[in-house]
Amino acid sequence: MEFLSDLLVPSESKILLVVVDGLGGLERDGKTELETAKTPNLDALAAKSSLGLTTPVDAGVTPGSGPAHLALFGYDPLEYEIGRGVLEALGIDYPLKRGDVAARGNFATAKDGMITDRRAGRIPTEENERLCKRLSAEINEIEDVAIHIRPSKGHRFVLILDGEGLSHELTESDPQKEGQPPIVIQPLARDAGKTARIVNRFVLQAQEILESEERANILLLRGFASLPDLVPFPEQFGVKAGAIATYPMYSGLARLVGMKVLETGSTWEEELDTLTQQREDFDYFFLHFKETDAAGEDGDFTKKVQLIEEFDKLIPRILDLGFEVVAITGDHSTPAVLGSHSWHPNPFMLYAPQTARTEGKPGFSERRCARGVLGHFNSLDVMPLLLAHARRLKKFGA
Ligand code: ZN
Repeated sequence: MEFLSDLLVPSESKILLVVVDGLGGLERDGKTELETAKTPNLDALAAKSSLGLTTPVDAGVTPGSGPAHLALFGYDPLEYEIGRGVLEALGIDYPLKRGDVAARGNFATAKDGMITDRRAGRIPTEENERLCKRLSAEINEIEDVAIHIRPSKGHRFVLILDGEGLSHELTESDPQKEGQPPIVIQPLARDAGKTARIVNRFVLQAQEILESEERANILLLRGFASLPDLVPFPEQFGVKAGAIATYPMYSGLARLVGMKVLETGSTWEEELDTLTQQREDFDYFFLHFKETDAAGEDGDFTKKVQLIEEFDKLIPRILDLGFEVVAITGDHSTPAVLGSHSWHPNPFMLYAPQTARTEGKPGFSERRCARGVLGHFNSLDVMPLLLAHARRLKKFGA
């Protein structure tokens, strides 16, 4: 990837990456979701595009959306790990800075020092919000480190430490079992002593405050993590990049790699309005549609088919914007028949009217993509391919 930066050349051309989350599927009655859906626009576009299949991480590996997106953004997910604490912070749209340490927290119930319920009776989010407010009112600094406590969903919250000389190399306090006491957090690296001391003091102070609570009278911490140290996207790929996503985790992932997150509404139409309005201001856009993945995870084949059909109706609007390069793909597959993410490669379509080899016949599906002119490749290669088709890479060697 290093050498790619040496090949970058300035260009006026614009790139659009459309991620239909969990797009790929599996067959029910002989057809996948994408094959079942009526998609006249995508089918016609495929004839004028290159098709292929991408593997998000590695053969047989079922990825989370975090690593799958990192790969599409051109960062090796095996090299840049996004810890649970960071993911949780992204999920609540917390503006994490480099050097911050974030952890995933659970409110839990204990009796005589032993955990009796790791989820505090699954307290509702409103109660969680009240507890976080209560803690925040009394604990906002330990030594020279600012402490932020933010509610997530149900019994979960995020703890963020903001200060100098912090490390995420810590053990967890959650024994993962009931009938045991919470574990004292230990440093795993020589420079993590200060952070371990602060976190343990936080736990003790929080427990004094929570003592009077009936259900959530202790807390458990795990997944300590910091932002990965990566070259920001605009620098790495020579493009001014904007991100449009309605779910905080995805805008968070885009912000994490250095894209500018654009304000948008909550519907697909509103996301396209934002794209239309800001078209002139960026060279590269990441446009994310979440709902297809949710339908797949719910095991709702019919809903996922309907959503793909809805997405198909947006294609003319997308093409009207005149991007030189448009890629349409998923981050990973989410087959409704499995009701979960899967390892199956993603259908990938690259439309670049000036520069792409074309399929010459219509049809967009997993099967068609498997025979596409781009063949089968890793999602990490998507960024170089987009740049090349946008004429943003010069010749390598003489
Ligand atoms: Zn996903």
